[in-house]
Amino acid sequence: METIQLKIKSKFVSKYKSGYPLIQKEALLNVQALKEEGTLLSLSDEKNQFIGKGYYGRQNKGLGWILTRNEKERIDQEFFNKKMWEAVKKRDSFYQSTETNAFRIFNGEGDGIGGLVIEYFNGYYLIQWYSKGIYQFRDYILAALKTTVDYKGIYQKKRFDTQGKYLDDDDFVTGERGEFPLIVKENGVSFAVYLNESAMVGVFLDQREVRKAIRDTYAKGLKVLNTFSYTGAFSVFAALGGAEKTTSVDLANRSLSKTIEQFSINHIDYEAQDIIVEDVFNYFKYAGRKNLKFDMVILDPPSFARSKKFVFSAEKDYKNLLKEAIAITEKGGIIVASTNASSFGMEKFKGFIEDAFKETGGGYKILEQHSLPEDFRTIKEFPEGDYLKVAFIRKL
Ligand code: SAH
Repeated sequence: METIQLKIKSKFVSKYKSGYPLIQKEALLNVQALKEEGTLLSLSDEKNQFIGKGYYGRQNKGLGWILTRNEKERIDQEFFNKKMWEAVKKRDSFYQSTETNAFRIFNGEGDGIGGLVIEYFNGYYLIQWYSKGIYQFRDYILAALKTTVDYKGIYQKKRFDTQGKYLDDDDFVTGERGEFPLIVKENGVSFAVYLNESAMVGVFLDQREVRKAIRDTYAKGLKVLNTFSYTGAFSVFAALGGAEKTTSVDLANRSLSKTIEQFSINHIDYEAQDIIVEDVFNYFKYAGRKNLKFDMVILDPPSFARSKKFVFSAEKDYKNLLKEAIAITEKGGIIVASTNASSFGMEKFKGFIEDAFKETGGGYKILEQHSLPEDFRTIKEFPEGDYLKVAFIRKL
């Protein structure tokens, strides 16, 4: 395969030399050299000093990823086998668990190959391809996965669009077809998962530790409001932790049947819980009018969303979301504030919390905070990959 030579602008050289893996358009002197996604790239500085080898694949984040900084290393079957084996080995304790059988085994650049994510769901693997470029390495990557692990079946999702959007397709790749819902376990709790339905499978694995903390440490006896609830995963953990009642609110029609299903497979009477299909911002108004108060309010919005009436951007609007939550949280109650926006870090997020409480005139205390769990491996050279920020805040 042809390798394209790319030159890094001098002001970006030290960043790339110290390990930054994402190939950004603004760092390149000769972007026009890029033709077909999936081509191998060799990056050097203006004096032709070697920096790294990578591939061309367009994502909203950038134009590709560096794969090695060793000029002699070839990007061949052996390369992919080694990366896969190292990644799987690092998840050994997850494979050994009897309580959990859903986890991420390959986390993009955190495991050395940006644009590639693989998750394990009770015998099945789901590969997510984040660009046409990485998909060109499909045969290598599939072969590497097959030689490294035992599996019942393998599914895939193509998220090629530059927005990371999902292309609708039959997602089955090889092995046995699964029967859906596939029931997986997380810390002893069941989740119904659909690998062949849409971009999202029914559960976001990155919140595993947050769900556990809600169940094990906080939920007992509380009235819990779960906003942006999707399939109600936080509500299920709260109910199993002894919450007095949960209220789940999500705009999407599918969230009603999906949440009923998650409660039911965990033997929780869903009729004793509230599941509301509505815009969260309308619900806050309604709760305000009715003077409803909750002991725990969970906030887990998408980083960007457009509904009929509102456009929500975490970076611009999180502070106001917190103010809405503060207004309907009991004194002494808890707000679980979460964001997956990679455009800002924990310090800025804490700034939103500080400002929201200041503007509503109350005190607060951060009880605990979370970032990505261990199976979502990240590297310090790419801090934006460590996107998850969660704070448990007590309203004083
Ligand atoms: N907290 C969920 C994941 C949230 S995914 C979990 O733990 O599994 C984001 C969800 O927000 C989606 O289900 C989407 O339908 C919902 N959503 C987006 N904008 C919304 C709005 N304005 N009001 C209510 N729900 C919204």
